[in-house]
Amino acid sequence: MRASRVSATLGARVAIAESGRFGGTCVNLGCIPKKLFSYAAHVRDELKDAADFGWTVAEPTLDWSKLLANKDREIERLNGVYERLLVNAGVSIFRGKALIRGKNEIEINGKTLAARHILVATGSWPQRPAIPGAELAITSNEAFHLERLPGRALIVGGGYIAVEFASIFNGLGVATTLAYRGARLLRGFDAELGARLGEEMGRKGVAVALNCNPVAITKQENSIRVEFNDHTRKSFDLVMFATGRKPNTAGLGLEAAGVKLGADGAVLVDNYSKSSVDSIHAIGDVTNRLNLTPVATAEGMALASTLFGGKPTPVDHENVPTAVFANPNLGSVGLSEEKARERLGKVDIYKTAFRSLKHTMGASEEKIFMKLVVDAASQRVVGAHMLGPDAGETIQGIAIAVKLGATKAQFDATIGIHPTAAEEFVTMREKSV
Ligand code: NDP
Repeated sequence: MRASRVSATLGARVAIAESGRFGGTCVNLGCIPKKLFSYAAHVRDELKDAADFGWTVAEPTLDWSKLLANKDREIERLNGVYERLLVNAGVSIFRGKALIRGKNEIEINGKTLAARHILVATGSWPQRPAIPGAELAITSNEAFHLERLPGRALIVGGGYIAVEFASIFNGLGVATTLAYRGARLLRGFDAELGARLGEEMGRKGVAVALNCNPVAITKQENSIRVEFNDHTRKSFDLVMFATGRKPNTAGLGLEAAGVKLGADGAVLVDNYSKSSVDSIHAIGDVTNRLNLTPVATAEGMALASTLFGGKPTPVDHENVPTAVFANPNLGSVGLSEEKARERLGKVDIYKTAFRSLKHTMGASEEKIFMKLVVDAASQRVVGAHMLGPDAGETIQGIAIAVKLGATKAQFDATIGIHPTAAEEFVTMREKSV
């Protein structure tokens, strides 16, 4: 979307082939509907807190079909917005699957087109582990259109999608189990963040089972039976795999055109998103670099600028902030404590865990957690991490400072906004180690 639109604005003649809806995974089966579900799930906490603030609220019930319909209406609106943006930028739209026929040739619906440049931005698709009965489970794709909410759900995985959907189902009132094969959720994130998220999710009612993985799934009359690696068996109404995604490169004609793919099927590209064939570029999840929507759009803008703006622009994948919309939310930018120690040797760690002002009014034990990772030699803040309400909103701002190379002293010189949780990021004075 972004690469097409910006390229057209820079004067290129652009055509786009799309067999589904405009907006990609993010708009249709990812970020946007997920965040809407996540809002719906968080309402439950608000309703629980209401009594502490003096409100009397009747026993809440959820109308799932209404939530689905409202979500679908918003997605359709966005599909229309995106299509209009393309049309207004002068992009020609081809409705169908594209097949690469050569370095400069594309076939769509039996018609062959020539192009000086071909851009592959076909995204990725959820993967299921190869265990007996895997087909009985759904993936995030189907989770957005369930006819009914299950009574008991098992989510398998410990990454972004697993923790987000476990939190969503739990918040919507489903008895939810999260089974992850590792010892701590969110591998790759700061270890304390993953560990604390597991604890907080557990407190909110998710049954978090670590070092636990399904080995077989069978259909029962009214349920789905799952056997785990420790030989225990449990029944659920819904099993969902959130076990990673694979680049969508099969059947596109890429290899026949000479495009090199990695072992995972991703298009191998250089810093300018160029594949092993000069006229073919690739951006987004299909390259399996940093699979986040804003990264893909940045890659698209950089490419448009390289090809049509007269300004070769490499993609900067350093210090990309990210948020995980679990409950509680989690936000992160820069290096985890573990990665920083590995790369920089000596680091200073500042961290804090506290109950939010809002929760002092009630019984909630939820703790906000924040951590700054500082390079001891340069005193630059190289990592900022948060677990707590709207962590993504806070970390977005902190990310600017980290990207600019701000030092701990510059964080300290910034005056806090009181009373917020975010102010802790500029008031942590005691080194923890
Ligand atoms: P992730 O790669 O984040 O997580 C996959 C999880 O599944 C890991 O915990 C992994 O375990 C586990 N896993 C992988 N294979 C198996 C297997 N065979 N059996 C059991 N467990 C397995 O992928 P997701 O599917 O959660 O999400 C895909 C990507 O989409 C994310 O990495 C992210 O880039 C993006 N995304 C971003 C979001 C956001 O920005 N908020 C939201 C959702 C997705 P292990 O750690 O042990 O390898």
